Amino acid sequence: MSRPKKTRNIAFIPTVLGFKPYGHSDPEKKGEPVFLFNEEYEAMRLCDYEKHTQQQAAELMGVSRPTLTRIYMSAREKIAQGFIEGRQIIVEGGKVHLDKDWYACNSCESHFTYPYKNKALLHKCPLCGHSLSKNPKEKRNKPEVPVTAEDTTSAKVSITSMGNTLDSYLDKHFGRCSYFAILDTETLKINFVKNPYKNLDERTGFLAAELMENYQVKKIISGDFGLKVKPLLTKAEIQMIIIKEKAIKIKDIVQLITHNIINP
Ligand SMILES: [Zn+2]
Repeated sequence: MSRPKKTRNIAFIPTVLGFKPYGHSDPEKKGEPVFLFNEEYEAMRLCDYEKHTQQQAAELMGVSRPTLTRIYMSAREKIAQGFIEGRQIIVEGGKVHLDKDWYACNSCESHFTYPYKNKALLHKCPLCGHSLSKNPKEKRNKPEVPVTAEDTTSAKVSITSMGNTLDSYLDKHFGRCSYFAILDTETLKINFVKNPYKNLDERTGFLAAELMENYQVKKIISGDFGLKVKPLLTKAEIQMIIIKEKAIKIKDIVQLITHNIINP
């Protein structure tokens, strides 16, 4: 198993969840919100607000100078887009919350948490089933691990979805996704649940986490989880899995999971 290589340091949690435009000249044309990552917020805070040089900001965030420049330019582009097009700006996500509690799969490149007490079961990727053991010999010598409720095989898995069909794409935002595609890994039936909290201004992550707990979901697959969501889901022993791939369909994710169940 390996840890995600690059995590970014942020000194502050953003003071607000976002910004909303008002007095739009054509309210009909209000577009989708712009999502500003925490690291973009931080780059802007360091460079424009605290007036550090880009070199200093890069050192403070623990990234290279070219990376900092890329993050900073992206922040400026997003903020400009929000201002000019009159879009809401939501501050969330990004790689900053890939801290020491996250693991990475070298095969499918997903990131995931492991919220269970029994770390002995941490031997394969929960998404693609790839072995996380570095040394194949070591794996062979390990005693057989009994399958428990903590393992991949018997659980409800929720996938954040942009639509309510298998051809829909993964929705990158957990609390603000359009639908939750809830897969029962025993019956292989899939149930699309509309996210009632999608358009709320606040607490979407909290409410969505609560909803998932009520549906007895054990794993959630998304593109990003808000900073406040992780402790809630960890406490509820719900595993978080992040897929960074830009456009992946629900059916392809379901196939990955079911293949993993059939070929443990
Ligand atoms: Zn994997």
